[in-house]
Amino acid sequence: MPWIDEERCTGCGICVQDCPVNAINMRDDRKAEIEMNECIRCGRCHSICPQNAVRHDSELIPKEIKENIKWVKGLMEYHKTAKEKKEFIGRIKKHFNKEKTVAEKTLVEIKALED
Ligand code: SF4
Ligand code: SF4
Repeated sequence: MPWIDEERCTGCGICVQDCPVNAINMRDDRKAEIEMNECIRCGRCHSICPQNAVRHDSELIPKEIKENIKWVKGLMEYHKTAKEKKEFIGRIKKHFNKEKTVAEKTLVEIKALED
């Protein structure tokens, strides 16, 4: 999913004009913003931005991991005994393993669409 680096965006509006489905809005502070539910992932904004402000999803991986860990640590507070903590960690691992399985199996089905 593309996203816009606010530090780089100069508010020129080129991407807003070029998006084929009007998925990019210009905020009041002159920073472009992508409406994720509208974006069809055509990649045009990546190519056209003169500031390289439209960034790739993969760059968010470290941030998302950090957010996940923060979430897990927050939930951990509710589990006081060593036994509770251990059981909780087991459940959280199952949660992320399930997410991983969904992603892996989805990728297999997407690969089939290419063939
Ligand atoms: S083209 Fe780039 S710099 Fe211009 S508004 Fe879009 S994201 Fe910002
Ligand atoms: S990837 Fe395409 S549809 Fe999505 S915001 Fe960029 S130009 Fe619009």
